[in-house]
Amino acid sequence: MLNDSLKQLAKRLAEKEVSSVELTTEFLKRINQLNPKYNAFITVDDEKSLEQARAADRKIAAGEAGPLTGIPVAQKDIFCTQGWLTTCGSKMLSNFVSPYDAGVIERFNAAGAVNVGKTNMDEFAMGSSNENSYYGPVKNPWGINAVPGGSSGGSACAVAARMAPAATGTDTGGSIRQPAAFCGISGIKPTYGTVSRYGMIAFASSLDQGGPMAKSAEDLALMLNVMTGFDARDSTSLQREAEDYTRDLEKPLLGLRIGLPKEYFAEGMHSDVEKAIEQALDEYRRLGAETLEVSLPNSPLSIPVYYVLAPAEASSNLSRFDGVRYGYRTEYYEDLRDMYRKTRGEGFGPEVKRRILIGTYVLSHGYYDAYYIQAQKVRRLIAQDFKQAFTQCDVIMGPTAPSVAFDLGEKSSDPVQMYLSDIYTSAASLAGLPGMSVPVGFGEKNRPVGLHIIGNYFSEASMLNAAHQYQQVTDWHQKMPGL
Ligand code: GLN
Repeated sequence: MLNDSLKQLAKRLAEKEVSSVELTTEFLKRINQLNPKYNAFITVDDEKSLEQARAADRKIAAGEAGPLTGIPVAQKDIFCTQGWLTTCGSKMLSNFVSPYDAGVIERFNAAGAVNVGKTNMDEFAMGSSNENSYYGPVKNPWGINAVPGGSSGGSACAVAARMAPAATGTDTGGSIRQPAAFCGISGIKPTYGTVSRYGMIAFASSLDQGGPMAKSAEDLALMLNVMTGFDARDSTSLQREAEDYTRDLEKPLLGLRIGLPKEYFAEGMHSDVEKAIEQALDEYRRLGAETLEVSLPNSPLSIPVYYVLAPAEASSNLSRFDGVRYGYRTEYYEDLRDMYRKTRGEGFGPEVKRRILIGTYVLSHGYYDAYYIQAQKVRRLIAQDFKQAFTQCDVIMGPTAPSVAFDLGEKSSDPVQMYLSDIYTSAASLAGLPGMSVPVGFGEKNRPVGLHIIGNYFSEASMLNAAHQYQQVTDWHQKMPGL
């Protein structure tokens, strides 16, 4: 059962071969057995999960089941979950039991899915290795010394180690795609505005987007069906008609035009990654797709632009953590200013502080035009590059990350090296485009390689189609690490 697709699990539930309580118990057992070693979950609450499973069983018995009813899903600890500790990986929220549900959580609840725990993450989703979590690093199931990627590393690890059939993540510059690649699973960040940000703790609001992480493209499509939809409580939520993301899965790929950005295939990509990517592209050509060169001339600027804009927004978003209304408050202080200072000094970790400093700097009077406004202009140019490329091709492909998972500690003392992990993913975030990662083989030290697929706005169904057809003729997505 551990390696079953969501569809297979739903079938077992529908045929009463297994109940949701049994299924949930099975996954909770695995979580409780493996979590001490992998640290993928910050909070596990068997009783709360089983209560949801019992409700799901009643729904199934009443003939009211949907595709995810009774299915265990792990939730990234960035989503406010009523009655659950919701920490965002930070000491600042280490005592925060959410009084309400995020829009995404509401949707999973309405679908009858079972929350099997809150997953570990980089503090406030800032990071590419999960080493920035107040709760300690997550380990990669493909190598105990390797990082799982970040910031959704706990979710990626949970799915890769089969502690949950699927999970949620969030992606601001690559946080769904890069950990999916590092852990050998599939993940998609949909078009900005399709998944509600209500109750999703804000990092950089113009970039943050929730999305699913699972074993296969088909599973991602089923998850997206639940996760997407208009939410009036999120001012950037898009009012669109509901889509069925599974609708195009079975379409043949004949004639699909795959654009290969020449900037992505230049220097920077490790040779083991390149080999796996080339093999995947060969597979696509066998499936009837054609590949052509495209250019994204401004893409080398995406990391510098991201690291002006994301910290700017973060410095503003994180000003709410002041020790007054909720979250951590320092124990001893003299007056209000001292309370603010000590609370924020003790509550935030070093990377978060670095971002607040950078963000405050680029937004300050003397530097606003030189950095923030300039970065916004280049952001527009990056989006225009994609617009141009999509006149020539249907999807863009390349590597998700320049290397396979690196070792724990390897980059933690060099922030710029760490930031470069998102060299291929941040451009799509800046443009608001959907991006996904699918496993396409293994590189150095038997660590997974992810293929990055970028699509045009609202082309998720075609991207999932491209990924699904590849997964019909390969089995990388079914490989399980020996734990
Ligand atoms: N690694 C990037 C950062 O540290 C992206 C994180 C994310 O997408 N949340 O900001």
